[in-house]
Amino acid sequence: MHVVLPVLFLLAIRLEPKAVVMFSPLAILPDFDAVFHLHRAVFHSFIPVLVIPLALIAYSRLRMPEWMLSALLVQFYMASHVVLDIGGVAFLWPFTTDMFFLDARITFNLQGGINFGADFDWGTRPYEKMGETSFISDVGFATVFLAVLVLVVFRKEAFVALMSLKDAVKAALAKLRR
Ligand SMILES: [Zn+2]
Repeated sequence: MHVVLPVLFLLAIRLEPKAVVMFSPLAILPDFDAVFHLHRAVFHSFIPVLVIPLALIAYSRLRMPEWMLSALLVQFYMASHVVLDIGGVAFLWPFTTDMFFLDARITFNLQGGINFGADFDWGTRPYEKMGETSFISDVGFATVFLAVLVLVVFRKEAFVALMSLKDAVKAALAKLRR
């Protein structure tokens, strides 16, 4: 998910597929902090996620305009990773290992029309060792990477398939409403 969602988003806004794929391993890079037994801290903190990418962007702007797309991709992938981990990240490491979290519960019912409700809970909690189980294995990574490559190659076909799926869902919803 860490790779697939941001890559799909970037391809959808029509960025150059080669650059999008080339930088996509960055979307998974933060989880390598599990190596230090400080998963969701060392590489999930504001330093690698904001400070370094922003410095790269500033440097590109001042000195290396041709690096700009790369710098923006670095920022996007690192930030997207932490957003997808929002259930708990030690964002202020090394100052504190407290984990910041945002929990959203979406409720949905069909009584008297379609009703959505959202329940938010956020704050900090003491650092919890995330089991290294959530660390994606090399095999998992290779599979996801391969899937992304296939998607890039077949993006036109994938788009058509997605659109027909959308139409099917729309038709089903219309039927449900009647
Ligand atoms: Zn992570």
